[in-house]
Amino acid sequence: MIVKPKVRGFICTTAHPDGCKALVQSQIDYVKAQPHAKGFQKVLVIGASMGYGLASRITAAYSFGAATIGVIFDKPASGSRTASAGWYNTAAFEELAHADGLYAKTVNGDAYSKDIKDKVITLIKQDLGKVDLVVYSLAAPRRTMPDGTVYSSVLKTVGEPYTNKTIDLKNNTVSDITVAPASEEEINATVKVMGGEDWQDWVEALKAADAIEEDAVTVAYSYIGPAITHPMYADGSIGKAKDHLFATAQKMTAAPDGIRAYISVNKALVTQSSAAIPIVPLYISILYKVMKEQGVHEGCIEQMCRLFNTKLTKEQAVTDEPCRIRMDDLEMADSVQNAVNRLWTEIASGNLDTHADLAGYHADFYKLFGFGADGIDYEKDIAIDRAIAAV
Ligand code: NAD
Repeated sequence: MIVKPKVRGFICTTAHPDGCKALVQSQIDYVKAQPHAKGFQKVLVIGASMGYGLASRITAAYSFGAATIGVIFDKPASGSRTASAGWYNTAAFEELAHADGLYAKTVNGDAYSKDIKDKVITLIKQDLGKVDLVVYSLAAPRRTMPDGTVYSSVLKTVGEPYTNKTIDLKNNTVSDITVAPASEEEINATVKVMGGEDWQDWVEALKAADAIEEDAVTVAYSYIGPAITHPMYADGSIGKAKDHLFATAQKMTAAPDGIRAYISVNKALVTQSSAAIPIVPLYISILYKVMKEQGVHEGCIEQMCRLFNTKLTKEQAVTDEPCRIRMDDLEMADSVQNAVNRLWTEIASGNLDTHADLAGYHADFYKLFGFGADGIDYEKDIAIDRAIAAV
């Protein structure tokens, strides 16, 4: 098949296997070229196929030589449908890691389910004994409970509606958008999906099965961002879930048989999940412009490489509050935020070229699905099947 991008709303329904592989390879090459701390050796990454989770897995494998088990929720190719990008990323990661003599296995299924937890724990016990790092990097729209109840997360404000600028990435126009407040039920559902409950369930299940080291560490990812995004993010329904995630880290650390649990507050980046948040993509395009101009821009792999080699090593965690690591230090620097604010007040459809890095935003969006990688012939007829080893 000749695979071209087919964008529908915030996602691309096709993915390019060779492009995904080239982009996984370039993340590996980046990590290999960085200095390495002494790190974790047996790493479980939940949500390992895209974005921050994939970058965490690559960093653990190629900074520390760690054995990694990834939990993903992805689809293989079928007929003329390509696989999901996360599937191709994982197939590529496994192939490259195995060629480098690294242990890498993947469990594909719903991380919220008991079934997948049991399967992963059996695999850990059989192959690794215990894990010493658990990365929780799920970004999911819904969670199905054991009794069949489905909770859906929403991206809304809490209390009052909020109006600000947003960008329509289909036609690159800026307009005002008003984001409605979430109901109490919607807030609770968002906390169920994106809060810390399932993270804690994973850690408890690992402990109960004696599949986690006593001195293990666990980390989940969060975001804070600047005031213009607060009503939409930090103070919105997703922010309530992130508050719960943070409280869960503190609770798990304080428990009598607790392990050290952290949230890492990461930089805003183009990923499949951030593309769906109103207002945030316009902020990200301005942020990219400013951070690139100031020479401080980072992507997922630079963030995760810096996290695991400097701020969350086996021995120490650099925190600003107990259980909280800040990887958004460069994003939140005054020099960056003052410049972003100036551009934000002026930005409109007519000056997008000078006020935002839309090209960078679009390029990163297409790269999520394997399009736009260097050295790939996108006109070539290719096989779309790629294998992930069965567990
Ligand atoms: P992403 O969409 O790139 O990746 C999410 C991963 O979760 C994918 O691998 C996906 O397959 C997996 N997943 C989703 N539902 C699943 C399920 N039911 N079972 C198993 N796997 C499942 O998202 P991301 O942006 O990397 O987000 C990861 C975390 O980082 C989230 O907690 C997010 O809030 C946080 N974060 C993101 C940003 C950002 O700007 N993108 C910034 C700071 C923090």
